[in-house]
Amino acid sequence: MTEEPPPVPHYLNFVGGRWVDGERRQNTNPARPGEVVGEYALADRAVVQEAIDAAGHAQSGWASAPVGQRMEILDRIGTTILGRVEELAVLLSREEGKLLGEARAEVTRAGQTFRYYAHQLLQPQGELYSSTRERAYAEVRRRPLGVVGVITPWNYPWAIPAWKVAPALAYGNAVVLKPAELVTASAGELARIIAGSGLPPGVFNLVFGSGRVVGEELLTSGGIDGISFTGGTATGRHVAQQCIAYGNKRFQLEMGGKNPLVVLDDADLEVAVRCALDGGFFSTGQRCTASSRLIVQTGIHDRFVDALAEATRALRVGDPLDERSQLGPVASADQLAQNIEYVEIGHREGATAVAGGRHTADEGQFMRPTLFVGASNDMRLAREEIFGPVSCVIRVGDFDEAVAVANDTTFGLSSGIITTSLSAAERFKRLSRSGIVTVNLPTAGTELHLPFGGTGASNHGPREQGAYARDFYSVPVTCYTGW
Ligand code: NAP
Repeated sequence: MTEEPPPVPHYLNFVGGRWVDGERRQNTNPARPGEVVGEYALADRAVVQEAIDAAGHAQSGWASAPVGQRMEILDRIGTTILGRVEELAVLLSREEGKLLGEARAEVTRAGQTFRYYAHQLLQPQGELYSSTRERAYAEVRRRPLGVVGVITPWNYPWAIPAWKVAPALAYGNAVVLKPAELVTASAGELARIIAGSGLPPGVFNLVFGSGRVVGEELLTSGGIDGISFTGGTATGRHVAQQCIAYGNKRFQLEMGGKNPLVVLDDADLEVAVRCALDGGFFSTGQRCTASSRLIVQTGIHDRFVDALAEATRALRVGDPLDERSQLGPVASADQLAQNIEYVEIGHREGATAVAGGRHTADEGQFMRPTLFVGASNDMRLAREEIFGPVSCVIRVGDFDEAVAVANDTTFGLSSGIITTSLSAAERFKRLSRSGIVTVNLPTAGTELHLPFGGTGASNHGPREQGAYARDFYSVPVTCYTGW
């Protein structure tokens, strides 16, 4: 454990290759009240506009830079991140409250993501077609989208900016990144690494500030060609409306989830409990892919509930820098208040808490995980995203009912099934309406080379990650050539 906090670093906006100061704010450690993690400078609207202009000036030069140069820079960013995993993970843990082990994995993944997109540049970038006309052929090429505004949430301060910024840069775009205000130190470190990578000035810009001021400026500016957004569904809807209203910008939205995990009678109980525990509570439930609805068949229901309740009560909630902790604090006081309110809603709606279920002021931002049983799918507990360590069990009679309940949601990010039946697993993959389906694995946990995204209220626009990321960050151009 780190007893003495390190000196407070200062993070400035990065605009056109220059560090730009502004009114200073502090962000603090959710695990240790009063411990300042970093100080950051707010951008005002003029600074944001300067960043957008700088990106606009730099973009075409970057798009025409040799692929070898683009690869080298992306690879250097990734390698630098990978060389500093431990130090950056401690910062992430202190800033967001993520367990140190999870923070190491996240920073590592960010580094690997930059390296992955460096190498994606060697993949085919277009297609060749015959033409139905004589002495002619057609090709589909890719042109960069242009200047991309990237707006990110607080729960993955390295992974999400990386999986947006890396493909955006790889495919020849310029970027203005606005991270969530809660996690400015991680974004500040990313900007420092990018600043030292040899990327031409203006190609990457970072602006700090609230969604209301800085985010809004990106949404309404005529200098932005597209917005890649990850965050809550209500914010996402607003992003969509503004993008359409202000210049018909292209937009990509990854939003919330209310993800089901189905447990069938034939499930391996140990696997079911492990996946429910991980999917429901790890990362303090602050994952868009968290399994917050456990849909359990009647024959295994009581055994599953007993085992999961015991395992939930045994989870060690504590300082994320202490390697013995299994759950860190809730990331912010606002998020904690929301979690507590939903626990109260669960009690009022008639569900029964078999683990957790109460929070006392002396626990600070450390919240014990809550498991409700006796829930039904029409309760708010089962319909609305909580984004905390709160999960509920819904009892069902058979596979068909389980699938119907799993699909009965406005969201559609991830879903999972625990079963030893190959047939049930296969049918679930076909019938589930979510964008990610897991079998005998937690609903959370994705891989960087595979497409990521949902359906319904969880997503709008092309998939992120893997080779699919190209679909947002580039525009297909159909060329006909006669000869
Ligand atoms: P949020 O409140 O929607 O904020 C997301 C980002 O949008 C933040 O940077 C926020 O800035 C900004 N923002 C807020 N209002 C804005 C506005 N009017 N214009 C432009 N930008 C605005 O979400 P969050 O609380 O940070 O993150 C939690 C949510 O993200 C959950 O719903 C979770 O499911 C979702 N999430 C989804 C995925 C996915 O891939 N599907 C992954 C992770 C998280 P400030 O907060 O700094 O004001």
